[in-house]
This record gives sequence, structure tokens and C-alpha cells, in this order.
Amino acid sequence: MSVFLNPKYAALEAYAPGEQPRDQQYIKLNTNESPYPPAPDVVAAMTSQEAALLRLYPDPTGKALKEKLAALYDVKPENVFLANGSDDILNFAFMAFGQNGAVFPDISYGFYQVYAQLHQVEDEKIPLKADFSLDYRDYCGKNKLVVIANPNAPTGMTIPVSQIEQIVASNAENVVLIDEAYVDFGGETCLPLLGKYPNLLVTRTFSKSRCLAGGRLGYAFGAPELIADLEKLKFSTNPYCINRLTLLLGEKTVENESYYQETCRKIQRTRDWTAEELQKLGFTVLPSAANFLFAATKKMDGETLYGELKRRGVLVRHFSQGRICNFNRITIGTQAQMETFLRRVSDILGGQP
Ligand code: PMP
Repeated sequence: MSVFLNPKYAALEAYAPGEQPRDQQYIKLNTNESPYPPAPDVVAAMTSQEAALLRLYPDPTGKALKEKLAALYDVKPENVFLANGSDDILNFAFMAFGQNGAVFPDISYGFYQVYAQLHQVEDEKIPLKADFSLDYRDYCGKNKLVVIANPNAPTGMTIPVSQIEQIVASNAENVVLIDEAYVDFGGETCLPLLGKYPNLLVTRTFSKSRCLAGGRLGYAFGAPELIADLEKLKFSTNPYCINRLTLLLGEKTVENESYYQETCRKIQRTRDWTAEELQKLGFTVLPSAANFLFAATKKMDGETLYGELKRRGVLVRHFSQGRICNFNRITIGTQAQMETFLRRVSDILGGQP
């Protein structure tokens, strides 16, 4: 740390992204990317003509992409916000709506806490129950910014939209942000509530189900007034935060919806198969509606298993947080990758009593 850093950031603990090692080729099951490439039309859109157009700034309003997303999800373009990944949107949301503090589960996406700290938003972390389920009543009438990932990460578990509605209705003075980064893998979207509640903000991403993590594109739905607030902060930070190519690829992605529905179905099938196989090996596997599994075995502690898998060329995500340190989060890859993963797990545990 230099002597120049504003003291208000001195204690800030930055988010630690999943590792991206370059020392060897890993089967990468650690950052919830898609194992499948973007749709052929999306790849084909990256022409040298488009590359040449990079001399021009992108459309800061993202009008064409907003219109396409609005048509796909049956909302108005004024209901749509775009930014550089959904992380960028979460950042703006904590900046914009955190003045009364924020509340989120103790086990959830680690960035919520970082954004709270960054924007000096007082946070309250509510413990999930012993089985990692979330009691929606804990979030009713909080009078704070409520942030819930549904499905949750890293557990993959969901809560029904009827319960989300109670949370949204009972926090009318504050924004309720539902992070639907993983909803396309079997979760239930709360988008139908949008017209009814001006305090509901739903965030989404192209990084998981849309196979575009490297493009950095996130989107959110909310009442036009909420979206205008977010736009104000975006235009006060970096109006051009989504580059030209990514905007174009985003449009092509939306035009190829059926390709992505099919890849999501494939991932769901592989997920359910992998969960069964892990259970046969004696693992506890939480019920997941996401593109990952959260699993633990009594035969080996989570960190050792993570290390042994890494030595054998398979990367999974381990979190050292006390309550979950025996678990690993395993992104669902292709069927072949998961077969290799399971073989490695069997080899590692083979020698265990
Ligand atoms: N929300 C959740 C719950 C996540 O797991 C992630 C991925 N790390 C994100 C948001 C952010 O994704 P992105 O910035 O790639 O859109």
C-alpha cells in the first residue's frame, strides 16, 4: 500500500477471483464458465471488419441490445440496464441503493461483502440454516438493501418466487436485488413480479448460460426509475464500459436463444448425472439448480481434496470459510470432463478407509 491511498480504502479486502493458472492445461471446473463455445453465429460475428470498427466508441446506451433483450423477456427497453458483467451492476447497485445498509446471507457470492465495504455500506449477514437453506422470513421488513442470489452461490440452492415476493413486498422502502446469474440452469425467475414492484432489481449475466464470460456483459431488469438511477451512476463512471464487440456479440447471442437453451439442458443433464455419481461415492451433494455442485465427503477434508485434484489437473473451487471448508464447488463441464473428474476423485479416495 502506498502512502497516497485514501485511508477509507486502507482496510478494503478485495475480491479474490477463482484462480486462472497458466502452468498447465487444467480441466477447469472452478469459475462456473460454460464448457461450450458461444453459438456459431456469435463466433462468426467477430470479423476483421468489426475489428477495424474498434476505432469508434461503442453506443453508450446499448440501444440495440436493450431492445433485443426487452423483446426476449417481454419487458420494455426502459426496464433494461447493461454493464460490464453483472459484477459491474452489483457495484452500481451497492453504490446507488445501499444508504440504509445491506443484508445478505452469510454464505453467498463473496463480492456482495466487498461492494458493501467499498461503498461503506453497513452489512448484515444472516446465517443460512444448518442445511444451507434460506428462511425468507429473515429478510422480510429489513428496511435495507436486500441482496439474494437465486439460485444461491456456492450452494446452488433456490427459494421459490412466492417467497421472494414476500421479501420484495415487505421491503417497499428499499431495493431488493435478486441475482439471477444462474437462473437459466433450472431456477425460477422472479421477472413476472417486475411490473408489480418498483423496488425489485433482477441482475443477470452472459457469463454462464450465454457462454460469454470473457466478453464481460451483464444485464438487469427493474422499473424505469431504478434503471435511470443505475444509468446515472454508469454515465458518471464510464459510459463506454461495454466494448463494441461485446455489444455486437450480445445481440447475436440473444438472436440464438435456442442454441443456449440446448446447452443449458445439456449442462443440467450432466449436472444431475454427476450429482448421482458423487452420491454413489459417498458425497453429500446439495440440491443444485445451477451449473455447479457443492459437495463434501467425510473421507477427506475439502482443501486436501481440492489440492489432490489440482495435482491431477482438475481445478475446482474451495472456500476456506469455516462452515463450508469441507465442501468444494464443482462447475459442470462437458460429460467427458465430468467423467475424468469422477475418475480422479475415485483414484484419490481409493486409498481412503
Ligand atoms: N453473481 C453471482 C452469484 C456469481 O457467481 C457471479 C460470477 N462470479 C456473478 C454474479 C458475476 O458474474 P459476471 O460479472 O461475470 O457477470
